[in-house]
Amino acid sequence: MIELKHIEKTYRRGVETVRALRGVNLTINAGELMAIVGPSGAGKTTLLHILGCLDQPTNGDVLFDGVNTAGMPESQLVKIRREKIGFVFQQFYLIPGLSVFDNIALPLLFSKKPAQRKKIEQLAEMVGLEHRLNHAPAQLSGGEMQRTAIARGLVNDPAILLADEPTGNLDTENSEKIYAILRRLSNEGLTTIMITHNPELAARAERTVKIRDGLICP
Ligand code: ADP
Ligand code: ADP
Repeated sequence: MIELKHIEKTYRRGVETVRALRGVNLTINAGELMAIVGPSGAGKTTLLHILGCLDQPTNGDVLFDGVNTAGMPESQLVKIRREKIGFVFQQFYLIPGLSVFDNIALPLLFSKKPAQRKKIEQLAEMVGLEHRLNHAPAQLSGGEMQRTAIARGLVNDPAILLADEPTGNLDTENSEKIYAILRRLSNEGLTTIMITHNPELAARAERTVKIRDGLICP
């Protein structure tokens, strides 16, 4: 379970301060499939980055099973990110010079774990890419690229998957496939949180949280 307690995030921009989050309270249950929606500039990405321990709140507590990550040093946050959290982005961020196999395996390298062929093959199969393991990202369709990114996000067995606009660059058919994968993962117990502008996707999440001007709408 993740609990956000009165999260505030303020950015400095020159002499201006931007209040990106203004007191967000949110409890996310283990295995939940949650959509975060709201207009551009509302604070969605900021919230996701705080959930992912990529950024720290200015104020407030971020509790993972009771452990507060707010104020933790970066060295500890890195560990939490690697062990507990998988990330998926709109832009995929695959490494062009590496095969699909090596892209999926990349987080293992950063965690100083050995490449586990079997595991990578299983993940590729789970996202329907078992026949693409030796391809380069440029040889894939957009949907295949995102499915590669999902497999990469799962290779460290995270408890939480965070997805920022996972279908933002995909057509309806490919968005459906991504949704089906996320749904299956959440049914298997993975806590899955996605930012989306896709109303159909948001409608099918177990819970939709709407953010506006740095606050969750009631
Ligand atoms: P959303 O994802 O809903 O579009 P963001 O979380 O990206 O919203 O941004 C919320 C607000 O914070 C916006 O006004 C944005 O310009 C500002 N912001 C986000 N990141 C930064 C940053 N690194 N530095 C300064 N301002 C930022
Ligand atoms: P998206 O809308 O796809 O979520 P954004 O365009 O809002 O992404 O933001 C992309 C990245 O730029 C994010 O990491 C965010 O923190 C950062 N960012 C957003 N607004 C600003 C800003 N005004 N100044 C600096 N960085 C920003």
